[in-house]
Amino acid sequence: MEIRLHPPRRKSTCRPKICDDGEPTVECMRIIVDLNRCQNYGQCVYAAPGVFRFVGTESIEYDHAPDSDDDVAVRRAAVACPMSAITLGEEVRP
Ligand code: SF4
Repeated sequence: MEIRLHPPRRKSTCRPKICDDGEPTVECMRIIVDLNRCQNYGQCVYAAPGVFRFVGTESIEYDHAPDSDDDVAVRRAAVACPMSAITLGEEVRP
């Protein structure tokens, strides 16, 4: 099975945040799919169709930096994945 990343769309998940030291920063959601675990069940595609999609019959692709509008759907996809292959993280930028 093949999983492909595609370029992030224009709107990002980045949210302004104030660090503990008072400095302004931004926090952005990032997605990683563990290719060794993913079995192409497609639960992520159904949970977050704006982020995960089928490509052909044996591969998916996903937006590793999804829109903030997709936050809830992405979290649902991570919970729905039967292989626990989806990891969500936050990238913090200065
Ligand atoms: S739900 Fe999990 S196992 Fe299924 S295609 Fe998505 S990442 Fe892969």
